[in-house]
Amino acid sequence: MSPFSKILEQSSFSHSDLERLLQCNGDEKQQLFKKGGEVKNLFVGNKVYFRGLIEFSNVCDKDCLYCGIRNSNHSVHRYNLTDSEILDAARFADDNRFGSVVIQSGENSSPAFAERITTLVSQIKQLSNGRLGITLSVGEQPESVYQRWFEAGAHRYLLRIETTNQTLYHQIHPADQFHDFNRRMDCLHSLKAIGYQTGTGVMIGLPFQTMGDLADDLLFFQQFGIDMVGMGPYIEHSDTPLYAFREELLPLQERFDLSLKMIAALRILMKDINIAAATALQAIDPLGREKGIKVGANIIMPNITPGLYRNDYSLYENKPCIDEEPAQCKGCLDARVALADGEIGYGEWGDSIHFMKNSKKV
Ligand code: SAH
Repeated sequence: MSPFSKILEQSSFSHSDLERLLQCNGDEKQQLFKKGGEVKNLFVGNKVYFRGLIEFSNVCDKDCLYCGIRNSNHSVHRYNLTDSEILDAARFADDNRFGSVVIQSGENSSPAFAERITTLVSQIKQLSNGRLGITLSVGEQPESVYQRWFEAGAHRYLLRIETTNQTLYHQIHPADQFHDFNRRMDCLHSLKAIGYQTGTGVMIGLPFQTMGDLADDLLFFQQFGIDMVGMGPYIEHSDTPLYAFREELLPLQERFDLSLKMIAALRILMKDINIAAATALQAIDPLGREKGIKVGANIIMPNITPGLYRNDYSLYENKPCIDEEPAQCKGCLDARVALADGEIGYGEWGDSIHFMKNSKKV
């Protein structure tokens, strides 16, 4: 057995093992992808679970240097769906047996926002008779607010740490109290303590990011005991300050490949968590999400934001499917998941097995 194949068979992984996995190419890369897919089938099965994504507002208090909807970008048309538009989108998810929805937006920490989300969560629970699982992804909030939303019925939360290299974190965020690495980390700990299935993730292929940083990110997911991960390639946006460093980036295809390697390596490292095939994969390769599924991901977040607004939630350029309506999206995904030898878990929550196992221990 080659040294590389031996690493794939190990039951624990050092920093240098993970770096080695992320640096592989050619035949080794195919071995890694194959192993990621096998481990997924063995530990979480070949089912792919849907999370209908409702990007309900692009209004954002933050100014992340990479993000197209950052506060200082004045060329964005700002929108905020009405409550009834959000509830209609949730009804669509329920009618089409998506199992779960993700409610995402720019960041806003006002009490009125907290109240609005609490009400929406209860209303979504009500209209679906408790059928829809609810994931929130609305940024950093006080622990008491996370607690209220949990009590209202949200049971998963996504908050990407973006990178665990603190120096890099501060290079890609403005230097002010609104963009504090430790606070973001504290939020993740609060979410876990409250009892959410906790999800995080990173961007892959950021300027100045090294393979060692990404190996650290993977080890962080493991040490934290994360339940879900969504991570995808960084894609430059011309209206953002980080665009100035576009010459430093890996070519798009390499960033895409590296993202698949991260998914496969994470699946081997954390066998029973939920891993999303990020939409950003599809911004680079039309079959990006299917490829993500093949190498280890088991979650897809079909965009069910009303078509009218999709163009305005442009976190990065070349965002896919912005000219479709939700119904078109669904037919398309059935075919896509079948292509990746998967089967859609219609009407199921598809909770993280990792979370279920750990919560039983308590
Ligand atoms: N306000 C929420 C949701 C933010 S958008 C929150 O802070 O959690 C969701 C994710 O999009 C971000 O966490 C970031 O990882 C990703 N994103 C933003 N800009 C991006 C870019 N240019 N390329 C790739 N991903 C990006």
